Amino acid sequence: MTEYIQPARVRFAPSPTGFLHIGGARTALYDYLLAHQTGGAFVLRIEDTDQKRYQESAEQDIKDALTWMGIQPDEGPDQGGPYAPYRQSQRIDIYREQAERLIENGQAYYCFCTPERLEKVRKEQQKNNQTPHYDGTCRNLDSEESARRAAAGEPHVIRFKAPREGQTTAVDALRGEITVDNSTLDDMILIKSSGLAVYHLAAMVDDHLMGITHVFRGSEWLPTFPIHVLIYRALGWEEPIWVHLSVLLKPDGKGKMSKRDTELAREQGFPIFMKDMEELGYIPEAVINWIALMGWSYDDKTEFFTLEDLVEKFSVEKLNPSPAAINFSKLDHFNGLHIRQLAVEDFASRIKPWFEKADLHPEDEMLIQVAAALQNRTPKLTEVVDMGGFFFRDQVKLEVERVVTPKMSAVQAAEAAGRILDLFQGLDEINQENAEGPLRELASGMGLKAGQIFGLLREALTGQKVSPPIFDIIPILGRKTVTQRLENARDLLRIEADKSSG
Ligand code: GLU
Repeated sequence: MTEYIQPARVRFAPSPTGFLHIGGARTALYDYLLAHQTGGAFVLRIEDTDQKRYQESAEQDIKDALTWMGIQPDEGPDQGGPYAPYRQSQRIDIYREQAERLIENGQAYYCFCTPERLEKVRKEQQKNNQTPHYDGTCRNLDSEESARRAAAGEPHVIRFKAPREGQTTAVDALRGEITVDNSTLDDMILIKSSGLAVYHLAAMVDDHLMGITHVFRGSEWLPTFPIHVLIYRALGWEEPIWVHLSVLLKPDGKGKMSKRDTELAREQGFPIFMKDMEELGYIPEAVINWIALMGWSYDDKTEFFTLEDLVEKFSVEKLNPSPAAINFSKLDHFNGLHIRQLAVEDFASRIKPWFEKADLHPEDEMLIQVAAALQNRTPKLTEVVDMGGFFFRDQVKLEVERVVTPKMSAVQAAEAAGRILDLFQGLDEINQENAEGPLRELASGMGLKAGQIFGLLREALTGQKVSPPIFDIIPILGRKTVTQRLENARDLLRIEADKSSG
């Protein structure tokens, strides 16, 4: 297939009915990649014709998510563009005009059936074990008569006159030809009684008029795909390349993520919605890498991709139509990888707000050093304060019960702290080379394990059980702070020792 080497015009056409989730973000990403690879255009079109499910904040949420990912549309409601407006609610007349063209050509018709009648028909069909479908009552009404009734204001919808005989073949770029018997097709509503077009018409009209060359969309549209190609053909238009993306399955691979599953996963802190990613400590580079590989791969080994790599390497042929289970732990893995790749200054600027939120206010010079110490140890930004908050606190508190154990009494611990202080005072510089050997000797001299001494030192300097390595920490804290914190620890342990002896 060579078509997509041409500048591709691709569109992301979300319905603003809720927060953008990873499935939608994946479609948008693939759109962006193909547009950028081919020097084409990435179009954002807001499909807001479903008034019942419309949510006012959703459009902004979608735009914010794209901004966060760094994939801005070239054309859209905010950018404008040659095919504006890009919001379907502002294009109602355009759909009506095309629906009327279909009526004139005998490929659509006015239908005056009342909801009550349709309900009766549906019940009857169900009783007879038939798939519910429109029974065709208005299909063969006299066209002039119908036009008169519609013009006189009689409530109506416009239906597509699907062929009854023969077969229809639609071509999906990943699945090849999909052929259905036309006898199974329904006369779908194109324009509702409210006058608003439904997806089946509106999206086709827009895709054509906006010059869309590739339609990336979810596989939930496969069942109505034949109708869509028939509408294109009925309007005499050349079809785009259709690409139905793989279904995303639950992590256990057992079934699609339902709305309920999605909510549940979110409640449990899983990254489902794009708006939660930042708060959960993920960086956009990692999220993009993770999402890109849900249904696409470059080869069987490469897994690290930047957005630029993806623009270069993406291809429709390598999209996989098979359902893919969402693997949340993979995102943590990618986040760690991408964090490690950042320039230290960049990483520092991303962690700064996390410290500030915890009411810690790092100086830039120290922050860079802290960033360097944390970068390999914090796969999520949520972890930086737990891991490195001690650098910026005026004081840290040694947790006595983590130091004083059956294996090390308070008396021993207090003495060890004092001895470490003495040892450090005798060193020109406290670094691994100068201090590690003497600390080990100190331990064995006291009948303790080296790990106990290093553990005590870590607790004294950080107040934490886990931290970056001691000798990375010491030069950043500086001799003065190191001495103060050790003195505090020693004093506290002495009090503890007095208590226990006393
Ligand atoms: N508005 C549709 C949806 O959100 C778009 C499908 C498409 O991309 O054509 O599901």
